[in-house]
Amino acid sequence: MLCVKIVSESKLKIKILGAGVGGLITAIALKEKGFDVDIYERNMQRSDIGAGIVCWPNASFVLKELGMLEDVALLSGMPVKMRRFSSKGIDLGSLNISQLDKKMGNPSLSILRKDLMAVLESRLIECGVEVQYGKTIEKLVSSESGLTSIHFENGVVDNSADIIIGADGRMASVARKFVNGNNKPVYQGFINWIGIYEASAPIFSNIEVSDYWGVGERFGIVPISSTKAYWAGGVAAPKIGEKNPLEYKPDLLALFKDWPTPIETIIRETPLEGINKIYVHDHNPIETWHRDNVLVIGDAAHAPLPTSGQGACQAIEDAWHLAKLLENNDGSIESVFQNFTKNRFPKTTSITMGARQFASSLFHTDENESEIRNENSKNTDYGLVVNGMAKGWSSGLPIYA
Ligand SMILES: Cc1cc2nc3c(=O)[nH]c(=O)nc-3n(C[C@H](O)[C@H](O)[C@H](O)COP(=O)(O)OP(=O)(O)OC[C@H]3O[C@@H](n4cnc5c(N)ncnc54)[C@H](O)[C@@H]3O)c2cc1C
Repeated sequence: MLCVKIVSESKLKIKILGAGVGGLITAIALKEKGFDVDIYERNMQRSDIGAGIVCWPNASFVLKELGMLEDVALLSGMPVKMRRFSSKGIDLGSLNISQLDKKMGNPSLSILRKDLMAVLESRLIECGVEVQYGKTIEKLVSSESGLTSIHFENGVVDNSADIIIGADGRMASVARKFVNGNNKPVYQGFINWIGIYEASAPIFSNIEVSDYWGVGERFGIVPISSTKAYWAGGVAAPKIGEKNPLEYKPDLLALFKDWPTPIETIIRETPLEGINKIYVHDHNPIETWHRDNVLVIGDAAHAPLPTSGQGACQAIEDAWHLAKLLENNDGSIESVFQNFTKNRFPKTTSITMGARQFASSLFHTDENESEIRNENSKNTDYGLVVNGMAKGWSSGLPIYA
C-alpha cells in the first residue's frame, strides 16, 4: 500500500533521532499525515540484533491503521496461549491469548525483531523517506528562538527542525538528557540472555508461549512457527558484570540444567553468535517528556522491563497518538506535547510499575516465596487476567468495548 498524504498542506519539518522500532514507526505515521520527516540513526545500517517481540493487539491495531498488519502477519506466528510452568514442569496455569485477541479485536503476533524492523523500513521507503545512517547525535542545544539545534558527532549542526522527536532508546538518550537532565537508566538486578532458535524439523506443535519459573530464574520460549522461536533465559544478578560470550552457553546450561524439555536443546542448538547477554535496565517514570520543540517517545520516554511485554508495543502506540495530535494541532506545538504526555504518561507508567512488580516476583531468590508465587499462579483465574489485560492495554485506543 502506498503512503497516503492526508494533510498535504502541512509542512512542519520534523526530525527523528533514532531508527529503532519507535523512530521508524513514528516516521511512517507522521509522513502519512503529510509532515516533512527526516530520521537519523547512529548505526551504519538497520540493526539485525535482538531476538523477538510480541506485537500484542494494541500494537497490531496501530500496524493495521498504518497498513502494515498483513506484512507483519506474514512473518509472524499467532500465539494462542501463554502457558506457565514451574522449573520442574508443573503446570501453573495458562492465559488464553486467542481470547485476549478476540476481546481486543486484533491479533497478537510473535515476530523476530529484525523482521519487524525490515517491514517498517521498507514501508518507510515506500513513503519516500530513507533512514540517514551513520549519523550520531552528540547533543541538543537550545536557542533563544526556542528552536533546538541538533549537534552531530561529525561536527554538523542543524537548526532547521520545527519539531525534534527523541526516539533514541533507553540506555543513553541524548534527547532525554536535554529534556530531563538525567538520562541514566536503572539496573533492575537481573540478566537476560536472549536468542533465536531454528530447529531442523518441526518441534513446536502449537504456537504457544511457554514460561518456566524457578527460584530467581526464568526461561521463556516464544514460537514463531513450528521450527522457529525466540527465547530468553533470565537470572537474578545483584551487580552488573562482564559480558564474555564464550561463557554464555556453559553458564546457561548450568543454570537451566534439568529444566523441562526442550530448554537444553534450545540452548545447545542456538548459534553462539546469535545469543546476547543483557543486564536489564528500565527508567523511573518521569512526567517531563518535552522541552522547547523536543519531545521524547518510546524507550527514551518510558522504558519498561521486558517482563511487561510492552516496550515495543508502547513505542508503536506513541506513533499513532502523536501523529493524530499533530494532525489536529491548533498551531501550538507545546499543547500537542502537553496532551501527548498527559495522555501517554498514566498508561506507560502503570506498565513500567507492573513490570517491576512481576520481575521482582520472578527474580527474588527465596524458595518459600517462589513456592507461594507458583501456588498463586495455579489458583489464578486467568479469564479475569485476560479481561484486565484487555482493558489496560486497550486504554486510549478505540478497540475495547
Ligand atoms: C539492538 C536492539 C535489540 C533489541 N532486541 C529486543 C528484543 O529482542 N526483544 C524486545 O522485546 N526488545 C528488544 N529491543 C528493545 C525494543 O526494540 C525497544 O524496547 C522498543 O522497541 C522501543 O523502541 P525505541 O525505538 O524506543 O528504542 P530502541 O529500539 O532502543 O531504538 C533506539 C535507536 O536509537 C539509536 N540511537 C541511540 N542513541 C543515538 C544517538 N545518539 N544518535 C543516533 N541514534 C541513536 C539506537 O541505535 C537505536 O537504533 C531491542 C533494542 C535494540 C536497540
